[in-house]
Amino acid sequence: MSLIVQKFGGTSVADAEKIRAAARKAVRAQQQGHKVVMVVSAMGKNTDTLLDLASQVNERPPARELDMLLSTGEQISVALVAMAIDSMGSKAVSLTGGQMGIRTDNTFTKARIQSISTDRIERLLDDGNIVIAAGFQGIDEDLNITTLGRGGSDTTAVALAAVLGAEACEIYTDVDGVYTTDPRVLPEARRVDVISYDEMLELASLGAGVMHSRSIEFAKKFGVPIHVRSSFSDTDGTMIVTEPESAAAAVCGAALTRDEARVTVLGVPDVPGTSLEIFSAIADQKVAVDMIVQNIGNDGRTDISFTVQRSDLESTLQAVGAAANRLGAAGISHDDKVSKVSVVGLGMAVQTGVAHKMFRALAAADVNIQMITTSEIKISVLVSRDQADRALRAVHQAFELTVEPADKKSWAQIRAARSEEADMESLVARLQGDVLEELTLTGIAVTPNQARVTLRGVPDTPGIAADMFESVAQAGVFVDMIVQGIDGEDGRTSVSMTVAEAELQGCLKVAKELMQRHGLRDVQGGDGIAKLTVSGIGLRSHTNVGTLMFRSLADVGINVEMINTSELQVNAVIDGKQAEQGCEQLNTAFAGVLR
Ligand code: ADP
Ligand code: ASP
Ligand code: MG
Repeated sequence: MSLIVQKFGGTSVADAEKIRAAARKAVRAQQQGHKVVMVVSAMGKNTDTLLDLASQVNERPPARELDMLLSTGEQISVALVAMAIDSMGSKAVSLTGGQMGIRTDNTFTKARIQSISTDRIERLLDDGNIVIAAGFQGIDEDLNITTLGRGGSDTTAVALAAVLGAEACEIYTDVDGVYTTDPRVLPEARRVDVISYDEMLELASLGAGVMHSRSIEFAKKFGVPIHVRSSFSDTDGTMIVTEPESAAAAVCGAALTRDEARVTVLGVPDVPGTSLEIFSAIADQKVAVDMIVQNIGNDGRTDISFTVQRSDLESTLQAVGAAANRLGAAGISHDDKVSKVSVVGLGMAVQTGVAHKMFRALAAADVNIQMITTSEIKISVLVSRDQADRALRAVHQAFELTVEPADKKSWAQIRAARSEEADMESLVARLQGDVLEELTLTGIAVTPNQARVTLRGVPDTPGIAADMFESVAQAGVFVDMIVQGIDGEDGRTSVSMTVAEAELQGCLKVAKELMQRHGLRDVQGGDGIAKLTVSGIGLRSHTNVGTLMFRSLADVGINVEMINTSELQVNAVIDGKQAEQGCEQLNTAFAGVLR
């Protein structure tokens, strides 16, 4: 008998009537011959209400007590759903995270799942029950109640689907699928039939709130197909699977993280170990850092900028403050009125011109780009918050995301073309017996013979990034990594890019023309660099990957010149002469988690 997991989000269980509707869906699935596990969120905005209440009694509520409080939201809804099912004449048992043996670490409010004991759930299912699992919660070693972070019920659902070997995991929510961007922000967004794990993982981690990004890590590791669909209708929604909807499209979606903050540590010594000191202090707070930009140093000193979620700003500043003191940095500046706009697509890994199309669209909308970072399948820009919606619309339009790609494949076509043995099987096999949400790395590689070109003193006005990357592309130069960040005090920025060594001269020529045209301060270029790449799943949400990387390189005196991160890769640019040694170091450092 096949098993399905059905997850209902807050709006889908917001009142008695909706609870009964959710219950009916589960009962129907059971009548169709499935074993059914439901995962349920707190009713409506209950989690927000509880958080608000907490902040009224204590401005900084202890994390353990927050989890104790927040977990009650889900406990209410599972009991009510079980009662509703009972009233329909079916058998149902509700379980809290602890009761179903979801073990987590003890990072309150951001706990990770370590193991799930399936015995009790399986027994209940065998006895004909619908099992209703409280989402978003677990217990730690000492039986303290923990929660997985906002939106974490998705992760509970996919994790249960993975360990129970479910046929599918259905995510019932208040939209009828995954859209090219949040349809509440851009009503013209298009619903996609299919999206790949990699793209969804990246979009979710860059702000597409429809799925908790950690749930996609599980789905990818265990090959669980996810069906995101409306709880208010029976129409098919979006399948999240290994394959993308289109092989040709450079971009499949755009995302906005509205509440971001930028932090710049000014005048830190430009020596190995500096980044480590700063980022390990932040990682210790379990804060995920994004958009890391390190400028080329002046007089042995450099500035390091990065972004965090605005809600993490306070703990980040505390952590960084102490580290900056130890390093003898000149100071720290921050801006909490910024937003991050990103485009994501598997196609961009092999296509040129994606970056300048985005920058041109932003310039045309008169949006100023404050920072840029890229990785193999995403480009992110930091903009001022009051321009965020305009920026999102501009890039959504530029990539024609409202239009179906010409080579679009439906889920039925993809399924028909699948071989019996999905290649995920091998990864799952390798993962047997693992701690569930532990870091999974799949490879460490070196790309030798790279070069870097840096343009400094770039005026901070719309249109320059677009002109820059258009000119470079016109010269036939393929740009790999791009980072732009604050450069000094006068509001100017610096832009660095990596290219293949053979393209350095061509790129430098264009850069010098750009220097004339825009009155840049300076152009520098150098070859003999290499890129170290660590690949895996959910790398950004595992905040310790960057730290481990920095530490193992700093230990042997290797300086990281540029870095970029995504959920799938962390890339560090280092001196080419140290590439082999760097690679060895990483292999040793990650030996325990490499599959
Ligand atoms: P639930 O309570 O069911 O978990 P969420 O509010 O967490 O629901 O997620 C659904 C919401 O996600 C939608 O209402 C939508 O506004 C938002 N969203 C953000 N990005 C996207 C996207 N790319 N596609 C669909 N919905 C999105
Ligand atoms: N109730 C939790 C929240 O609102 C978990 C969830 O809904 O996924 O974040
Ligand atoms: Mg959600």
